[in-house]
Amino acid sequence: MLKGTGVSDGIGIGKVLVIEECSLEYTPKKVTDTKSETERLNGAVEIFCQNTQKQADALKISAGEADAEIMLGHISIVKDPYLIGETEKLINDGNCAEAAFENICDMFINIFSSADDELTKQRAADIRDVKAGVMKILLGIEEVNISDAPKDTILAVKELTPSMVAEINRENIAGIITETGGMTSHSAILARILEIPAVMGIPDLLNAVKNGDTVIIDGSNGEVLNYPDNAQLEHYNAKREQLMREKKALESFRGKATISADGEIYQLVCNIGDPDDAAQAVEFDGEGAGLFRTEFLFMNKTSLPTEEEQFKAYKKAALILKGKPLVIRTLDIGGDKDIPYMRLKKEANPFMGFRAIRYCLKNRDIFKTQLRAVLRASSFGNISVMFPLVTCIEELREGKALVEEVKSELKSSGTDFDENIKVGIMVETASAAVIADILAKEADFFSIGTNDLTGYTMSCDRGNSDVSYLYSVLQPSVLRMIKHIIKCARDNNIPVGMCGEAAADPMMIPLLISYGLTEFSVSPPSVLKVRKCISSWTKQKADEVAEKAAALDTEQSVHDYLKTVI
Ligand code: PEP
Ligand code: MG
Repeated sequence: MLKGTGVSDGIGIGKVLVIEECSLEYTPKKVTDTKSETERLNGAVEIFCQNTQKQADALKISAGEADAEIMLGHISIVKDPYLIGETEKLINDGNCAEAAFENICDMFINIFSSADDELTKQRAADIRDVKAGVMKILLGIEEVNISDAPKDTILAVKELTPSMVAEINRENIAGIITETGGMTSHSAILARILEIPAVMGIPDLLNAVKNGDTVIIDGSNGEVLNYPDNAQLEHYNAKREQLMREKKALESFRGKATISADGEIYQLVCNIGDPDDAAQAVEFDGEGAGLFRTEFLFMNKTSLPTEEEQFKAYKKAALILKGKPLVIRTLDIGGDKDIPYMRLKKEANPFMGFRAIRYCLKNRDIFKTQLRAVLRASSFGNISVMFPLVTCIEELREGKALVEEVKSELKSSGTDFDENIKVGIMVETASAAVIADILAKEADFFSIGTNDLTGYTMSCDRGNSDVSYLYSVLQPSVLRMIKHIIKCARDNNIPVGMCGEAAADPMMIPLLISYGLTEFSVSPPSVLKVRKCISSWTKQKADEVAEKAAALDTEQSVHDYLKTVI
């Protein structure tokens, strides 16, 4: 059995089709006619843009408008004035178009792939895809056509690129397995949207499988069974059918309110990373966006996004959501989220360091630019603003004062914005949790970030495998924190949501209902599952479960107990 990261749920059974990476080798030449060499580059870029546009059009039909934007993003990369300008400079120095373009792309790829965080690394994959596309045109290489793959094909590739995904005929591709890539890569996002089971990051995959092998992939746990026997095939076929039945049954929750078995209404919104995800949130029937992680806008670039760029992105998301709530979280960098061009100092304890709201309050230009963009966008929808990683009331006060400062600047310039914009905070540090009663008096709302709260409460870094056994939201201490935060919010009559992964965990849902959570913010594909789960609980039943869980003294016993009730 092979093991990787399950990035798109479901069981895929089929025959392997290995997509070999074609060689982009060439012999660099010196050129004297730099004008015609520049024209050759521009011609290749133009053909690349036309091909990509066609792929985007195809993707629009198979996956939806928002996802076609991922391909259109490739056109923006290749047309980036800096990238083209630097390439042309190298051609003017006498390099051939291939060498010049490769050189500049590699420079960006190196910058992005040397980042510590997974997200920035994934951006390198997009540039690699663009580089390969343009180089193939320059070198006259014909590509393998994935759209011709026969039914029940499992695609096996070293790195899946969005342009490969764009060629996929979802009727024929039963699964995707790759050597590189992870949960947050664009290709993984596309695989989830196309609902194709996928496992990525399988070490040495291409030596372990060959064309025509039968394999079973389980996208939920990242397992790939090569050479399955009949009993395994039978077992997984049955599992696949069961999953398909469950998925169909979920459709009856589409278009409905999120309501518990005893009639309590909850808000079920989505976590998004860019405006296109807002369309995904709508597609999956989310009731708005409870967390817009704006750092994605900062990560996809080589320099800070301007106020105008940010304004357009926030406005676009607001318009897509058509008046449904949109909570924009201000820049949350540092810790696991590095942005190379911002040149954050290397710190011994980055998770405890100069990050998120701490960074923004000390870099007011960056912060105020973002707040101006958010406030300007607020006149186009139902926008709130939220500060990450708050630890003390002064941070909230200072952040709110800056919001007021920006408001009065906008007012004097006659710019429209929502005067009553709500300002809330992520409660994701142990300190904020403990003083939630103090914070609730001055915050308009809370959103509990269990991903960080778990780490900070347990004093453990989940990236460190030696201590990852401690990283669980079901630890009695973390559960007490969550209960306390929700109580403080309710005592002060402010809404309290959860945007950490725990909000979509069926074991957590009865506890959250019992504690009094009012909003669940989850990844778009989890919306219907969570709505169904909420519909099965009454407050009374949830209280019984919460009471029993509270009497248990270990994570394991809480886990084992909750497993029995879902
Ligand atoms: C969290 O910490 O739970 C959260 C939602 O924020 P992020 O995962 O972006 O740190
Ligand atoms: Mg967080």
